[in-house]
Amino acid sequence: MKLHQLSAKEMRAKAVSGEVSPSELVDSCLEAIGRQNDLLGALISVDAEGAKARAKDLEAARARGETPGPLFGVPVGLKDNLCLEGQPMTCGSNILKGYRASYTATAVKGLLDAGAIPIGRCNMDEFAFGSSTEHSAYGPTKNPWDLERIPGGSSGGSAAAVAARMLPLTLGTDTGGSIRQPAALCGIAGLKPTYGRVSRFGLTAFGSSLDQIGPLAHRVSDLGLALQAMAGRDPKDPGTLDNAAFEAGDQAPSRLEGLKVGLPKEYLDDRVAPSILARIEAAQKTLEALGATLVPLSLPHTQYAIPAYYLVATSEASSNLARFDGVRYGNRQKAKDLEDLYLETRGKGFGEEAKRRILLGVFCLSAGYYDAYYLKALKVRTLLRQDFEKAFAEVDVIIGPTTPFPPFRLGESEADPMQLYLCDLLTAPANLAGIPGLSLPCGFDEDGLPVGLQILGPALGDETILRVAEAFENATDFHSKLPTEAVQ
Ligand code: GLN
Repeated sequence: MKLHQLSAKEMRAKAVSGEVSPSELVDSCLEAIGRQNDLLGALISVDAEGAKARAKDLEAARARGETPGPLFGVPVGLKDNLCLEGQPMTCGSNILKGYRASYTATAVKGLLDAGAIPIGRCNMDEFAFGSSTEHSAYGPTKNPWDLERIPGGSSGGSAAAVAARMLPLTLGTDTGGSIRQPAALCGIAGLKPTYGRVSRFGLTAFGSSLDQIGPLAHRVSDLGLALQAMAGRDPKDPGTLDNAAFEAGDQAPSRLEGLKVGLPKEYLDDRVAPSILARIEAAQKTLEALGATLVPLSLPHTQYAIPAYYLVATSEASSNLARFDGVRYGNRQKAKDLEDLYLETRGKGFGEEAKRRILLGVFCLSAGYYDAYYLKALKVRTLLRQDFEKAFAEVDVIIGPTTPFPPFRLGESEADPMQLYLCDLLTAPANLAGIPGLSLPCGFDEDGLPVGLQILGPALGDETILRVAEAFENATDFHSKLPTEAVQ
């Protein structure tokens, strides 16, 4: 196996034992990126020199006798909405073309402190609005399993980079499913932590009551390592919890005796493609064989999650994006007066989907409509949260498909944005409820496209869902299959 195909944990072990150096790991990933990125469009920019210099610094620190961190020497990719001082941050938008971050996000700092090496910036739907990574001003990302298909989104670049083994570990963000959905469609693992577990300081906000930063990797244990490096209370993000810190277990679990697994009927009905349902049924059997008990249940308000999510998310986005006006931030356009400056900068800087979201959000929040839309959505949100609270009084985790359908062909959903919004049917409820969720591979459909199994847990149940996922991963070998075309 080539170096860049190793997991983060394996890379770290080799770097710590001295079998390979961080520089060799960086070179191997850069070689893979150089060979594949033009085809896939997974990374918007690559900082080869910076990564090489950091590898050398880590080697020098080790030579001085410093203890290597849990991600020592591991090359990582960052979604292009996370600040790393001095590096570009475009959010996939024209409005931030040329912008460089003036400070480092707390989550990114966590990875740096653990010894990781940032190599590049991952492509994304503009401002994380989307499920396909087609809405990036820097071109679409393609799915490594089928280059004519979308990788999912909005963290599609983060998912494709890992799936094609350019990098073992990347960060994404998940507001309505943007880590779990691309992870599922690209055949890798991705974790949305409990709301409040990872600081968003230094993340360009989309929906502040929903956003979480999380890792994507080809092995579940790498998700735990990354979460450990990032989690914790941060006074710079008042949304973080006092007990946010997380410690990754180092014992790979093999049995799940005593575990109760909820099967919500709303996640398993005819809105989900039969090819996906078949893989989920097989996954249920695997969990049962590991000793878990399956418990059918209902999450009755699931059908209202999409409308509630799109009202809350667009409302918050319209307010968060007000700062991109060409004065404080943004690629300023020439104008004759102040109003013209705003119009020109925002008119030329934002893409179609960003404009659609801002218009929807401003409409929802405007006087006379607030009660009918925004307030009502908040009430639905409470009902969804209560659905989960009731369910988690009975079961330890809930499982289902991550996505209702396999990846579209590029361009296929352009005619009807609603189709794309429906991708979030099974992921957005966790964001509205603030609970953790992860997706990991559970097989392939008849076209050879990956299918994702979603595991949801109660608030702060991140450790439980990681444990269940790792047991499932140990019992199956879907994670070891490589997308052929792009990874030769
Ligand atoms: N697909 C959802 C949206 O477009 C979720 C995006 C996200 O999680 N960032 O809003």
